[in-house]
Amino acid sequence: MPKSNTDMKGEKECTFLHSVKAMITLIKNGNVVTSDNEFTADVLIEDEKIVAVGKALNVPADKVIDASGKYVFPGFIDQHTHFDALCNSGDLDTAPYETSKTAVLGGTTTIVDYAPQDPGKGLLDSIDYRINVRAKNKACVDFALHSLITEVNDRMFDEIKELPKIGVASIKAFMAYKGSRLHVDDGTLVKVMAESKKAGVTTFVHAENAEIIDMLQQDCVKAGNTAPKYHAVSRPPMVETEAARRAVYLAEQMGAPTFIVHISTKGARDAVAEAKAKKLPVYGETCTQYLTTTKEKLSNPDFNEAAKYVCSPALRDEDDLEAMWEGIKDGTLSAIVSDHCGIDLATLKQVGRDNFVNIPNGAPGVGDRVPMIWTKGVVSGKISKQRFVEVCSALPAKINGIYPRKGTIAVGSDADVVIYDPNCASVIRLEDNPNGIDYNIYEGTKISGKVDTVLLRGKVVAEGGKFVGRLGDGKFIPSKAFALCFEK
Ligand SMILES: [Zn+2]
Repeated sequence: MPKSNTDMKGEKECTFLHSVKAMITLIKNGNVVTSDNEFTADVLIEDEKIVAVGKALNVPADKVIDASGKYVFPGFIDQHTHFDALCNSGDLDTAPYETSKTAVLGGTTTIVDYAPQDPGKGLLDSIDYRINVRAKNKACVDFALHSLITEVNDRMFDEIKELPKIGVASIKAFMAYKGSRLHVDDGTLVKVMAESKKAGVTTFVHAENAEIIDMLQQDCVKAGNTAPKYHAVSRPPMVETEAARRAVYLAEQMGAPTFIVHISTKGARDAVAEAKAKKLPVYGETCTQYLTTTKEKLSNPDFNEAAKYVCSPALRDEDDLEAMWEGIKDGTLSAIVSDHCGIDLATLKQVGRDNFVNIPNGAPGVGDRVPMIWTKGVVSGKISKQRFVEVCSALPAKINGIYPRKGTIAVGSDADVVIYDPNCASVIRLEDNPNGIDYNIYEGTKISGKVDTVLLRGKVVAEGGKFVGRLGDGKFIPSKAFALCFEK
């Protein structure tokens, strides 16, 4: 039944009264750096989106930020983090989503976090629980998700095709960790690749040879070699290189887009380079620690000092470290990530005090990646500012199907912006950017410049080194299937 004129008028007035004025933010005179450009410009933001980028935008704004002499970067994206997860000792880690404010303070506005299958649950249930319980009203950073296999069964295989419907476009399989719930055998991996390919889901692979590691660990322990440094002895470069080569071969046979995570050896890098030369859909990333930190750290006689650096793959030597920079520079490797893990020293790392095999693997780093790579990569002359933005923001957005919403400064993109002041020096100190964990593996490192201001979808969430956002400001960002690794 048509409404009377009076009703119509009333409704209109009501709408008008309830309409909220948009929040206008103007960032003036910054050096905007994207993955392919650098220019001086103003960035105009209306509510959560960038609405204009250009010279001398003289628009009345609710908030004006002067970025003169500073860089204006798209919010950085860390596509490999583990918040609120079971660590491999089976305990819940010490990085609940509340601690994700460390990411924001370090210039990261989006993470692609891992969503392991919770015990007895499917892939889909576990993702739903993560979005609506674990992260809800707690995440301080926007997050997309990778699914992660911890239980192999028919339901898991069936659910792969459903992942894109709930905004997840990747699934991770661990070739390492024999005997743990994380490990998948080669048969499972091949079937995951086949199912994922059909659904437009990228297979992410942790490439280390589980059998050889198991044998070497047993040999170390039998010989009484139980200190943390034997972590690297039992995980030599060849265990990673062999598994990476196997993953590439299986990806080729299955024609399945495959992404090798946290590459740390020259051999695994070369496997990706050869795959790219053959035009195979194989990609890879490395981590801040494999670009900046060598395995000598594991030889510290103080258990706590050494155990901080137990992560997998193990830290390497200078040659591998340089090979990682070459891989980033020449385009073989597509992303730099933190592999942030909330494994504290006080409780979780102590499990391995008498035997390195039991030290949970992983270290925090989501808050340090941007200043570390800026300093060690850009300022030291290894990579350009554009490549820095590409591997720390644009490519992770493309690989995870969230570009151009994320990963660039452009009209229509989310207003995730990092204003970086290059004209000062700072030193990494845990107390300046608490990560919720009782150490920082980069403690004391001298940094060029500092993260000055961070906007998350138009809202200032960090300013002058302080977190000014709120728990729950971060929201789930759905990924689109058939992302970068599927492009011909
Ligand atoms: Zn990881």
